[in-house]
Amino acid sequence: MSAKGDKFYAWANASKCSVKGECGGAVTALLKYALENKIVDAVLTVKKGVDIYDAIPTLITDPADLQKSAGSLHCGTLLLPKLIQKYMDGAKDMKLAVTVKGCDAKAMYELAKRGKVNLDNILMIGLNCGGSVSPQMARRMITDKYGINPDDVVKEEIDKGQFIVMLKDGTHKGIKIDELEEVGLGRRPNCQRCETKIPRQADIACGNWGVIGDKAGKATFVEICSEKGAKLFDGAAKAGIIESSAPDAKGLEIRDKVEKVMINMGKKAQAKQFAELGYGSKRLEFMQAESSRCIKCYTCVEQCPVTCCDNIKADLADLVTPGRIPPNFMFHMIRYSYVGPSCINCGQCQELCPMDIPNALFMHAMQKDIQELFGYGDPGCDLTLPPLASSDEKRGAGFVFFKMPASTAEYKDEKSGYYKVNVKPTE
Ligand code: FAD
Ligand code: SF4
Ligand code: SF4
Ligand code: SF4
Repeated sequence: MSAKGDKFYAWANASKCSVKGECGGAVTALLKYALENKIVDAVLTVKKGVDIYDAIPTLITDPADLQKSAGSLHCGTLLLPKLIQKYMDGAKDMKLAVTVKGCDAKAMYELAKRGKVNLDNILMIGLNCGGSVSPQMARRMITDKYGINPDDVVKEEIDKGQFIVMLKDGTHKGIKIDELEEVGLGRRPNCQRCETKIPRQADIACGNWGVIGDKAGKATFVEICSEKGAKLFDGAAKAGIIESSAPDAKGLEIRDKVEKVMINMGKKAQAKQFAELGYGSKRLEFMQAESSRCIKCYTCVEQCPVTCCDNIKADLADLVTPGRIPPNFMFHMIRYSYVGPSCINCGQCQELCPMDIPNALFMHAMQKDIQELFGYGDPGCDLTLPPLASSDEKRGAGFVFFKMPASTAEYKDEKSGYYKVNVKPTE
């Protein structure tokens, strides 16, 4: 019997489950076991579309279709929990298994806290994540830096600090990620800042870090993160769909070390990117200038896992002039007030912004400031930590703060009982 914290090397048992996965297929085999045994009604994951730059979300109900979704798509920058909220009624009436990167797992927590997804019905299969590359960036980078036609690439991989592309003719070329990022290429800026490398919010966390020796590339390193995850793993092992072994002691060490190095890299990228934003009124001026390109398409609102309150659009519409673009800066200020404390740095509001406004950078910087100022914990990491700002219950874009340090009690609004804070730009 496995338990939370247990670690294994695992792979699909070829005699029972002919899965060709990224690193031995344990993830696909676990999903297959869950679907075949009706632990879930459907699996939400991604599959390759027309090419490797085209990651398509896919809802699978027939276990035979799972093979189509096996493998890792590093240009798959989707946020699957948002789809569960929007199109699957938050999994309120169906049981779902879903593959989650760190940002997906954190989004799921923030949506669950706001009552938008039912975590009891969701089985999260976590994927360790060193970062993803936006599809347009990948094509540009492969053309300009690799000197290769992006349409000739059949597979990409991030290994030992390199972004490697495999070509139709069987050759491959890798360039160090550091070298790419120095010239503004490589992983998405939010991925460079990311500190969630092993998504332990999920029921099980899977990846290739720490798999060494003869199992390298052929097995997945699995960490059990919940009772639900343990039950799934034990069931699949008992049914013989996956095989497993104890991880190599050196492999355990390597995985810990890599995780720490990656987290430090994330912190360094934060320091660098936030410093480039400037501070105080200079930062605010920069944000205003960048936001002046806004065409009020609402993508940053629609795609954000935090701005999922029913009232936000109405609040925005109330406070800006209809039909006018760019909208008054108030449009952004309202959004910031909702998201600021709980931004999980998923990057969606930036990557999908048609005007290339660095929204995620603004919000991540703001979240870190709020965390430092008020001691509010890491968003997306603790289900017991209530959201700071929400407007589901009563209309209005005011900040609603809970669990504040005693020093902020002076801001308590006696009438409503909420703690309110006016955030002013500081020098
Ligand atoms: P498979 O059986 O091949 O199943 C993989 C599953 O992941 C499939 O269901 C597939 O649909 C799903 N999937 C693929 N791409 C995405 C995506 N973009 N978003 C959501 N689901 C997806 N492991 C590490 O240890 N270190 C890393 O740095 C690392 N970086 C990663 C970056 C990305 C963007 C992704 C997607 C994965 C990364 N992994 C990393 C995990 C690793 O690549 C394997 O997914 C993992 O080891 C499981 O292998 P498997 O053979 O068991 O999976
Ligand atoms: Fe991976 Fe983090 Fe980027 Fe999400 S934000 S794709 S978890 S590196
Ligand atoms: Fe993600 Fe942007 Fe929302 Fe932050 S503000 S959670 S980066 S969509
Ligand atoms: Fe404005 Fe960009 Fe948001 Fe669209 S996604 S509303 S253009 S900031």
